[in-house]
Amino acid sequence: MEPLSLAAIASVTGGALTDVPDPDTLVTEPLAFDSRTAKSGSLFLALAGDRTDGHTFAADAVRAGATAVLATRPVGVPAVVVGDVLTAAARIAEHLICFCLPDTTVVAITGSAGKTSTKDLVAQVLSGLGPTVATEQSFNNEIGLPVTVSRATAGTRHLVLEMGARHLGDIQALTTVAPPEISVVTNVGTAHLGEFGSQDAIAQAKGEIVEALPRHGLAVLNADDPLVRAMATRTSARVVLFGESETATIRATDIVLDPDGRPRYTLITPAGTAPVRLRLAGSVQVPNSLAAAAVGVETGLDADDVAELLSAAAPVSRWRMETTVRPDGVTIVNDAYNANPDSMRSSLQTLAAMGRAADRRTVAVLGQMNELGPDSRAAHESIGRTAASLGVDQLVVIGGDEARWMQEAAKAAGLGAVHFPDQDTALDLLRQTLLPGDVVLVKASRDVQLQHLAEALHTIT
Ligand code: ATP
Ligand code: MG
Repeated sequence: MEPLSLAAIASVTGGALTDVPDPDTLVTEPLAFDSRTAKSGSLFLALAGDRTDGHTFAADAVRAGATAVLATRPVGVPAVVVGDVLTAAARIAEHLICFCLPDTTVVAITGSAGKTSTKDLVAQVLSGLGPTVATEQSFNNEIGLPVTVSRATAGTRHLVLEMGARHLGDIQALTTVAPPEISVVTNVGTAHLGEFGSQDAIAQAKGEIVEALPRHGLAVLNADDPLVRAMATRTSARVVLFGESETATIRATDIVLDPDGRPRYTLITPAGTAPVRLRLAGSVQVPNSLAAAAVGVETGLDADDVAELLSAAAPVSRWRMETTVRPDGVTIVNDAYNANPDSMRSSLQTLAAMGRAADRRTVAVLGQMNELGPDSRAAHESIGRTAASLGVDQLVVIGGDEARWMQEAAKAAGLGAVHFPDQDTALDLLRQTLLPGDVVLVKASRDVQLQHLAEALHTIT
């Protein structure tokens, strides 16, 4: 973090210093919301959670080296006492961007699916131009964003921020803290449909990211998603479209999914044409990498550089189409990080394509998708039918009613589908029935924690 004195932090946040021997003491390290990650020179955020209150850990954080604590009451160790810790953290981040990071370009990324994958690819491409700081994992909300901003220093050329939205106005609030010069929208799907009510409302919320752009900014939009394309009318910034559509400026042609699930394609840009071979598995990485290519080309890289950087990008985030081949030739695709109807469909498509590419048996091991509201049953049934129509060879569903809905719809559509109430019983069956050469996709909503099953499958017994 660019150094700020406690006095400056009090002034920016409208807070009061308590138990501070010297107001000129500097905070030099990023904001930390976990006292275990607080290190010498950091500022600990005493956030109130559902089960724990960060104020309880204030002394621990200072003992671990934190310069002070951002708190809502005196805590007996050096503190900046404010009305609300998150609002104060946002003010600090806003101040850092406005006054301490004049040469840093903010790139903001949102969408229903693919934010983290795209963020990691954009960061990879931009690292070809200079020091880049990006959101860690999916820390994309009002807590994660100030923390990420605080990781940047004056030498940071690009700050790549994943932005998530659960409500209208969420992204607007995040872009007020970190105003982007480049905004990327991956797609508008049905994630969090229960909270938003309609897909149009989701598009409204995601589009706030382009409304935040200045006139000299750049909107990078998915040409293949009508609701994203339509966002072009919501900004006076320049628009660049990416996708497979002929109308896209940054395009992919000759897309091939290799038997290991990794895509190859020809990247076509105004700055040249070049072959790309991704190290990430899944056809969804094609649009994600095209978005990153668009950002790269628009910031001055040529097609060869972009293609090389993309082709070198290693998977950063775990449990997203993480592909492992067992010694006996069974391929496990661990996509247990999360699931919604769109990502379920695309992962099933990739599974089917991996099977076709090498004439192998495909097995989908699926758990429920959460937060779908009243459409939940229809959505689960539709996934069962999709698995059948894609020609997946075997469906294994795990969990309660939602799992059964998938199973019944799949069976009605002619696909062999079995149901298990829990992961352990499913694991027993899978261990007995998997054959060398099989490809197994493991996917469900985050809460289901299906990564345990995927990881257990790595061991042959
Ligand atoms: P979250 O909202 O949980 O942070 P995210 O938007 O960051 O999710 P990723 O973590 O990149 O998304 O990907 C989550 C899952 O979504 C992946 O495992 C993959 O199945 C799917 N996915 C990734 N990119 C796309 C895409 N462009 N289109 C559709 N599905 C995608
Ligand atoms: Mg994410």
